[in-house]
Amino acid sequence: MSHIIHMDTEVVSNLANSIKKSSNYIEENTNSLAGILKSMPWEGGSREELVSQTGAVLNKITELKLELSNLGLQLESEINQWIEVDKGSNLKIISENNVISSSFSSFITSFLYPFGIFFKKDVDGVFEFFLDDQRGKELLDDCKAANIRFEYDKDGEKYYFGAENGEIIQITWVDPSTIPGAKGVYSPNKSSILLNNELSNNYDIRETLAHEMQHAIDYETKRVDTEIIEKPYQTFDKLSPAIKSEKEIDEINWNGLEKEFEASISERVHSEILAHSRGYDFNPELQTGESIFNMDNTYTSSEYKVILNQRGYASFYEKQLEETFKDQGLDAAINVYWDNSSNSVRVNISDVNKIELINGGFFDA
Ligand SMILES: [Zn+2]
Repeated sequence: MSHIIHMDTEVVSNLANSIKKSSNYIEENTNSLAGILKSMPWEGGSREELVSQTGAVLNKITELKLELSNLGLQLESEINQWIEVDKGSNLKIISENNVISSSFSSFITSFLYPFGIFFKKDVDGVFEFFLDDQRGKELLDDCKAANIRFEYDKDGEKYYFGAENGEIIQITWVDPSTIPGAKGVYSPNKSSILLNNELSNNYDIRETLAHEMQHAIDYETKRVDTEIIEKPYQTFDKLSPAIKSEKEIDEINWNGLEKEFEASISERVHSEILAHSRGYDFNPELQTGESIFNMDNTYTSSEYKVILNQRGYASFYEKQLEETFKDQGLDAAINVYWDNSSNSVRVNISDVNKIELINGGFFDA
């Protein structure tokens, strides 16, 4: 920890704004350059070469731009924490904010307006907005086709969105600690959507809700293959009684399990591509990579890379898998990444060891 005990929030706010402006400027310029490049009236092999080389450079710039804007957002979040402390509110919020910002960077954006600068809009209002909006109507049609009905309960009154007699999926607000590091969560098992009650920006609520609704639609219509997603976990469950000694750990077919996790994660990335694409329909604020996502049935390497690298899902999946291993009494190093040479998601499992308890016994899962 640093020992700074004072912050002139106004001056530092100006810096945060400058960072934001610079990164927007970079984004606008790279976008316009990409546009010019695309429409260049020149055909032939050397054109292709120039386009691909320039494209690679633009990608690098975009990645750096994202790092810069993340720094700006972290700074804003830091400033807000100082203001919060100044107001005398409790420190618990701050430690939670820190956990969230570090564990899942894409969440930081929701701390832009944490003090009710925008009036908090509620889910029933979002339903209303969707019904009035062309893209909202398309979402409604997809809910009907999936036979899903979203339900929101407010002060004893129920609000609905979707198919008249569809399967009910409950939407509820929860404390950030219930869904650490996430703006929202869709749980297929519990048929519910949980929204982080720190969401206060209208765009954020619409985007998050539409995002989670799309996950629900994809699960219900089997556009996402849940069998592929669950396979490695079932394999793991079957293995667990066998994991008794170091020797048996060596005998386990880790390569086979890696392949199953690769298929499982690829399927989950597909679901994220669709959900992000849907969510961005309702967030007019500029998002890097937004234009890369679409809802066609092909998943491009750029789409994979934005989800895994820029949106932070690779490290999120790594953490989740390490938890899964811990549940089995195993410690392991997990690496999830996009492999450019094979054009696919790779999962590496290494350094698998039994977790030893302090009393000398073995953890028995
Ligand atoms: Zn998602």
